[in-house]
This record gives sequence, structure tokens and C-alpha cells, in this order.
Amino acid sequence: MAPSLVFASVSLFILSLSTQGFAASSCKAIPGSESWPSDSEWAELNTLVGGRLSKPPPPAAVCHRNHPAYDESQCSDVTSGWRTTSWHAKQPMSTMWQNYNNYSCLPDPTTPCSGDGYPVYVLDAKTPEDIKAVIDFARTKKVRINIKNTGHDFLGRSTNPKSLSIWTHNLKSQKWFETSFTPKGCNFQIQGPAVTVGSGAQWSEVNSKARERSLAVVAGASTTVGVGGYIAGGGHGPLSAKFGLAADNVLEIEAVTASGEIITANECQNQDLFWALRGGGGSTFAVVTTYTMKAFPSVPVARWIGRVSGWDALTHMHVNWGKMAAQGASGYLNGYPGRGSGSASMTMNMPNATATTLHRYLDPIITNIEGITGRRGSGDDDEGSGSGSRGGSSNRDDENRRLAKRTNLITGVYQDFASVHDFLDATTFNREEGVGQVFPGTGSNKIITSWLWSEKAVAHPNLRQALMGAFDSDTQLLNDLTAGVGTANPPFIRGGGNAVNPAWRTAIMRPAAELQWSGSDKVKLAKRKADALKFGASLASVDPEGGTYLNEADPDTPNWQHAFWGSNYPRLLEIKRTRDPEGVFWCKACVGSEYWDVSAEGQLCPKGDIPAMDTPSVAPEAQEPAAPEAPVSAPEPPANIPETPVSEEAPASAPQPPVGVPEVDPLGPIGPTVPTVA
Ligand SMILES: Cc1cc2nc3c(=O)[nH]c(=O)nc-3n(C[C@H](O)[C@H](O)[C@H](O)COP(=O)(O)OP(=O)(O)OC[C@H]3O[C@@H](n4cnc5c(N)ncnc54)[C@H](O)[C@@H]3O)c2cc1C
Repeated sequence: MAPSLVFASVSLFILSLSTQGFAASSCKAIPGSESWPSDSEWAELNTLVGGRLSKPPPPAAVCHRNHPAYDESQCSDVTSGWRTTSWHAKQPMSTMWQNYNNYSCLPDPTTPCSGDGYPVYVLDAKTPEDIKAVIDFARTKKVRINIKNTGHDFLGRSTNPKSLSIWTHNLKSQKWFETSFTPKGCNFQIQGPAVTVGSGAQWSEVNSKARERSLAVVAGASTTVGVGGYIAGGGHGPLSAKFGLAADNVLEIEAVTASGEIITANECQNQDLFWALRGGGGSTFAVVTTYTMKAFPSVPVARWIGRVSGWDALTHMHVNWGKMAAQGASGYLNGYPGRGSGSASMTMNMPNATATTLHRYLDPIITNIEGITGRRGSGDDDEGSGSGSRGGSSNRDDENRRLAKRTNLITGVYQDFASVHDFLDATTFNREEGVGQVFPGTGSNKIITSWLWSEKAVAHPNLRQALMGAFDSDTQLLNDLTAGVGTANPPFIRGGGNAVNPAWRTAIMRPAAELQWSGSDKVKLAKRKADALKFGASLASVDPEGGTYLNEADPDTPNWQHAFWGSNYPRLLEIKRTRDPEGVFWCKACVGSEYWDVSAEGQLCPKGDIPAMDTPSVAPEAQEPAAPEAPVSAPEPPANIPETPVSEEAPASAPQPPVGVPEVDPLGPIGPTVPTVA
């Protein structure tokens, strides 16, 4: 179906639902309401979960003299941790962006402190049985549920007030499979290494174990991001342009459903949930306890790190990025282009390639900028020094110096890394505080607005205006150039597909405008929310019928159902209706959330039941198990990667395979060959 028809049909579908009459059931209980469980009922639940239920004060209460939890000695730890992602991840209730908890309790003692924006009770989940007990309790007593892993969520979906929270952070198990994985209940193996990882693990933990085995997985760019919410929303990273999203690499899921069942979902059982839990969003269908993911050999990586200066160069880089995406290269553009200059820093990488190969594809793009602007500079490059290059030769250094002087519009250096992990060590994407940086906005306010751009979108004649209209001087550009052949045709995807927004399948990048500011002024919040809508509209203007990445988006995105899930929305809604008819799970701008109202006090009340629809909840292709012995086919990687000599002259631009069409990788794709594991 043409995109415009899909768009129209989803809009009509949503409209038709909203005009039907629904049977209402009762509101969720809140503290003080008649239906709120008694202290003895909470005590019983605590016994059932082995004493792992607590009623913590707001995390910054220790800084407030008039709060019973006041403790001056702990306040300085809270204050210093407050601006780091890792500190919030370790707290049972704390989340990173205070604009999503109504500024309930900041470490600033001059501001008020209450628990109003936070859950009331928290389960420190250690087992699926703990989670089952809490879900059964919440369902029968009609208590609102919250799920928090790290609290990174940019849409505030891990902080629901007046709720019973399931804190998944300590579900950190890892089990590695060295040669193959057999999904439970299936009569075939999936060849190649895999890992079953607890949903509370953070990517640094998974990566460090992968490194010990010379393996890699598709993971986020930040070490502190958690597996749970990341995979639920899709999950992209520096390997995804080549290998697909993290959700495209999931082989099996264990979860606890809204009805309290502990289930396995894969292509042989619970196929509806297997589909929905890979891209349908967190906190909606079930609490995931483990994901089993595809792993692959940790290949060498080539990197370019540099700077793109001015709106001309920035636009040029966007227009041409499809050529890099078609080769499985990923990158990140980062800066404040609205501060007049239109400039940004840039890093890009090509897995299973050498710097020479990366140069072969990138250099024609850099060279072309001179043709567009007629400008050729001679400025020395000062980017990338000390950035952790490994294995560079003196010839390579000469080449880097030569390239750096060719133009001052796009300047940078090429580097080789022996493995994915060496590359990750040297590349922080300005996303991590561990190297003396603070992830912008942490501990205060953040709104991200984004859109997925395809080759068609970047070819739009108004691209430059769309970019310029998306940033004021206080707004950060973070363009995750992490889509490409791998997201268009994920090489390891199981079950015939997943719930990831179809817009990812044509995307080559996910530009975002990131608004971050300090303070707790509600007028300022309203202004920045309005700005975010304006910037988002500018990004969407080059592809209004497209969509965006639900984990890095504005929860107020107009028509979010279509923007986050496109044509997958009706099927997701049907799965929500059948798997969670009582609305045990709820979060803002999540599937089915439009059937509930939230009062000013944070009480959830149903607007009506989700009506049944014709859309089958199980896709035809996922109903039957795949044929026995049906590994995802991928050829063996070459023993040695052939080095392509650097030509003094820029090569005539090679024809580029369009994204979306399987390409022949010049290096050979990475196959499921298993390295010897110690
Ligand atoms: C510093 C930083 C860097 C980032 N980098 C990337 C990146 O490189 N690539 C990328 O794709 N995204 C990135 N993100 C966005 C990230 O994917 C989202 O913030 C994601 O929601 C984080 O998931 P979490 O489990 O860590 O966080 P949380 O905030 O704890 O949870 C996020 C959502 O998932 C739900 N959830 C969590 N665990 C479960 C579970 N086990 N079962 C059911 N629901 C669950 C929560 O209720 C919430 O709705 C980044 C975010 C930050 C703050």
C-alpha cells in the first residue's frame, strides 16, 4: 500500500474507534481512595515477594529538612550523582528528566519536596515469580503499575505517580551460547552464538562479557542504557546500520504477562507477544525478564572522526549519507547548529572494514562539497587528536594530514580498530559521563523530538530549511545515522518480522532536536514543549507521512500512534486488547494509552474498552514454526579482509545500491561463524 494510503487508513481507523461507544470499568486506586489496598494487604504482598517490596522516599528527600527522610550526610552524594545517568539507574525510583515527574522533589532544598510524581511502592524484582505476584496484586486491586529499569526514558515512561513499581535493574543474568541456540518448543536450532540476558542489564555489562568471547551484539551507544526499554522500543547503535536494530536480533523472550503468566515468546509459541515485544514499546504488553539475542564475531571497525562546518556542509552530509548507509556505515552528528554556524562534530564507523575502505566511500562525499560551494580551505584539522586510534601507520598519519587540509568544511581523520570493543572504548559519542562529560540535561529537563529520514526525505528540496527550522541556539542536534542496509533488511530477524515502525525500514538516519534546560519553572516548560512541537514539525516536513523512533521522541508528537508505529498500530492495539484487556500496563503515548484519562492527581480512569478488530493478532507468517534446521542464512566471513589501496585520486563515484535493496557487501557480510570461545 502506498504510504499515504497507510497513513490515511490508520488515521481513519483511530478516528472510527474514537467515535464508538465503550463500556467503562473503574478507575485505578490511588492512595487515599477507598479501593487503595490496606497496610496489611501490602504487608502480605511483601511476604510473598520475600521482603523485596519497599516504600522509599523520593530520592532527593534526604536534602530537605522538613522531610522525614532528611539526612544531610547523604545529600551531597545525591547532589553529585543527580547529573549522571549511572546514579539514576542505580536508584529504585529515580528517573533522569524531572519535567516528567512534575519536579516533585529536587536536591535543591529551596524547592518543595513530595512523593507526588513518584511510585508509592517498589518491588526490587529478582525473579519472574516476584513480578507475577506484583502483577496479580495490581490487577486484582486495580493499582497502577510502573516499570523502571534505568530511568533513562526520554518520554518519562518509567515514572508513573501513585503506582506500584517493578524495578527490573537487578535482573542482570547472562547466559552465552557459543555455537547455536534452540528456541524453547522449537525443533530446530538457530546457528551461531547468542546470549540470554536479563532485562535489567546495561549495555556496558553485556559488552564486557561479549568482549571476553570476541563477540559483539547490537547495543546502544551509551554504556548505561538498559536492555529492557531499549529493545522494547527497537534499539539502535553503531552496528545497526549493518546488522539491524537490537529488536531485529532477538531470538526469544521470557516475560510475565498482564494475566500473571510466566511465558516464553518465540516463533513457535506466543507469537503475538514475540512480535509485539520487539518494537511495540515497553510497559505495554508484559514485563520482560530476559531477551535472547543474536551475537556475532567482533569484527574490525574503521572510523572517521571530524567536523562538519556550516549549513552547506551539514546539508550536503545529510543529502549524501545514503551512500554510506548502503555500505552499513553508522555515524553520529552532534552539535548546536542553531548557534549561527550550522556546524557539528561527526563520527562514523564501518564494521568489518578498514580505514582504507571507509575512505573509498567517504572521500568522494567530502570532495564533492568543494564542488557545491566552490570553497577549498587549508585549515589544519584539530579534531580527533588523542581519540584512541589503534594500529595506525605513519602512511596513515600522512594520509590523515593530507585529507585534513583538503577542505575546512568537512575535516577529520580515519582510524582503524582491531575490534568492535576497541572502537567502542575510543568512541563515547558525547553520550556518557564517564569521560568527564555529562549527558546533557541529566537531572533536570529534557525533551527530544525526532523524525526518521529516508533517502527520499533527504532529497527533498526544502531539506536545508527543515534542518535550520529545527534548532534554536539552545537546542542540540543529535542525528543518529544508525540506519542502513541492516535496518532495511535485518539479516537475523526471526518470525517473519516484528513490531518495529516500518519507517525504520526505509530510514537512513534519525535526526533529533534535543531541548535541555535547568530549573523547575512551569512557564519555561510550556515554552519548551511548544518549541519542541515546532522543531519536530520542521523535521517531519520533508516526510510528513513518515514516522519516528518511539524511544527518542516527543510524547506529544501529533498522531503519535502513526508516528511511532505506522501501519503496525492496528495489530499492536489488537494484541493489547487481547493480552491486557484490563489495562494492567499503561504509559503515556504507549499502545492503547488513548483509552485512558489521567486526572490532575495522577489517577487513571478508563475511557472505554479497546474494541475488537479484524486485524489478526498473530501474523500469518508467524503462526507456523519455521522449518526445522532453518538458521538465518549468512555466508561465512572471509578469513582475511582484503585491503583496498588508497588511490591518490578520488575514485569515480561508484554506483551505490539503494538502501532497501540487498547489496553485495564488498567485504562479505558477517556470517554466523563461531569463533573459538575460551
Ligand atoms: C544517555 C542515553 C543514551 C541513549 N542512547 C541510545 C542509543 O544509542 N540507541 C537507542 O536506541 N536508544 C538510546 N537511548 C534511548 C533508550 O533506548 C531509551 O531511553 C530506553 O527507554 C531506555 O530503556 P531503559 O530500560 O534503560 O530505561 P527505563 O527508563 O527504565 O525504561 C524505558 C521504558 O521501558 C519500560 N521497561 C523497561 N524495562 C522493561 C521490561 N523489562 N519490561 C517491560 N517494560 C520495560 C519502562 O517502563 C519504560 O516505559 C539513550 C538514552 C539515554 C538517556
